[in-house]
This record gives sequence, structure tokens and C-alpha cells, in this order.
Amino acid sequence: MSELNLILLGPPGAGKGTQAERLTQDFPLAYIATGDMLRQAVAEGTELGLKAKQFMDAGDLVPDEVIIGVALERVEADDARDGFLLDGFPRTIAQAEALEQEMEQLGRGITAVLLIDVPDEEIVRRVSGRRVSRSGRVYHVDFDPPKHEGRCDIDGSPLTQRDDDRPEVVRARLAKYHDVTAPLVRYYEDRGLLRRFDGTRTPTEVHDHIRATVATLRLEDSL
Ligand code: ADP
Ligand code: ADP
Repeated sequence: MSELNLILLGPPGAGKGTQAERLTQDFPLAYIATGDMLRQAVAEGTELGLKAKQFMDAGDLVPDEVIIGVALERVEADDARDGFLLDGFPRTIAQAEALEQEMEQLGRGITAVLLIDVPDEEIVRRVSGRRVSRSGRVYHVDFDPPKHEGRCDIDGSPLTQRDDDRPEVVRARLAKYHDVTAPLVRYYEDRGLLRRFDGTRTPTEVHDHIRATVATLRLEDSL
């Protein structure tokens, strides 16, 4: 059976991380989240982190020349050889072109791009209530609260709010999404790869729909 190489696309707060956690339990996929990679680099004070921090704090995108190399390195890594789930990359046409070229060189291809659609008003509500644990597990104060307030269900660590989840930064991130990332919808539509999902449904409903689609893709691929 051939590999599944998937991309999660959608505005900040659409539920990409939430769905990724579930999908990596359903299918053998290496999870590659550029936002997580960058936050870790910032926390560790690495060269990448130092380059990225000012852009992230402002709700801006990290420049293509900074992110493309690190993202593609992960795609090429051994654990991603049998399939991957990209979350947060590509986010610009230049990033998508670099990925496409890399996949061609490796003799691989993207299986599908999973677009999670959520209107802007809902995004602001979601992102402002988002809380994260040390291990990266995502919660929402109203829509997906932990069992004990302010504590992660899995490791008990205190939940925190991301610096860039403040309302004024969220608006900047949304504007950026519409300007430079949303054109990827057309880009992948033109290549016949786009699959749309209604992200306003519950996490479980969204997951059921995506899982069914991915299972069908895998079946079609193995025929
Ligand atoms: P969200 O999950 O809310 O969409 P992410 O965690 O993916 O946000 O990204 C957080 C921040 O990291 C972005 O606002 C941006 O500054 C930076 N970032 C992540 N991925 C990329 C990328 N592919 N290109 C440029 N910047 C990125
Ligand atoms: P992204 O990775 O796209 O930025 P997240 O998965 O981190 O998005 O979700 C953003 C916030 O919205 C989190 O607080 C999460 O708990 C919540 N959330 C995710 N999916 C849904 C959903 N279908 N309905 C309501 N809230 C959701």
C-alpha cells in the first residue's frame, strides 16, 4: 500500500491541531507542525527561534527562506517516509511550490489537502479560549475544557495561553491568512487535491468526516 501524504489547511484556530491529534491515532502518519517547531525553537532560544520570534509575536508569517528549509528537512526525515500530516505548512504559494518540487525530486506526491473551513467570527471565539498544555495538547475553556480547570488531563501540567492568541494579534493572523494563505485553496483545487470540511461542526463530527475521506483515499490508492 502506498503512503498517505496529507496537508491540513485552514485559518488559525480552525481545529487543525485538534484533528491532527485524532488522525495520527487512526493512520500511521508523521505529524509535522511548523508552529510547534517554531514555538519550541523560541523556547530553546535557538538560531531559528531568534529569527522567528519577532514575526510570531506580531502575528506575521516567518519569512519563506527561514521556514522552507526546516519544514522540508522534516518531510525528508526517516519517520515521514511512510506518510506525513503537515499542519501549518505550506502557508504561502512559494512554500507550496517548494514542497511540490521536493516531492517530485523524492518521487513522491501529496495525496490530499484537507481544508477545514471556519468563518472569522468563530475563529476569534475559538482562539481566545484556546489553552495549551506543556506537551502541546489543546483545550478550549468552553468547547473542550479539561477535567480539572487549568490542568492537562494527560500530564497534569498547568494550561497556558499562547502569546499570539490575544485578540489584536489574532486579527493580524487572520488578515495574513486571507491575504497570503487562502490563495492555496485555489492552488490545490487546480491540482485536484483539495477536500473541504465544515469546521463549524463538533470536533467529533469533523473527525468522522475527515477520517472517512482519508480511509477512502487510502483504499482507492491501494486498488
Ligand atoms: P495556528 O495553529 O493558530 O494556525 P501555528 O501554530 O500554525 O498557528 O503558527 C503560529 C505562528 O508560527 C504563525 O502565526 C507564524 O508566525 C508562524 N508559522 C508557523 N508556520 C509557518 C509557516 N509555514 N510559514 C510562516 N510562518 C509560520
Ligand atoms: P488550529 O491548530 O487550526 O490553530 P486548534 O486545533 O488549536 O486549531 O483549535 C483552536 C481552538 O478551538 C482550541 O481551543 C480547540 O479546543 C477549539 N476547537 C477545535 N475544534 C473545534 C470545534 N470543532 N468546535 C469548537 N471548538 C473547537
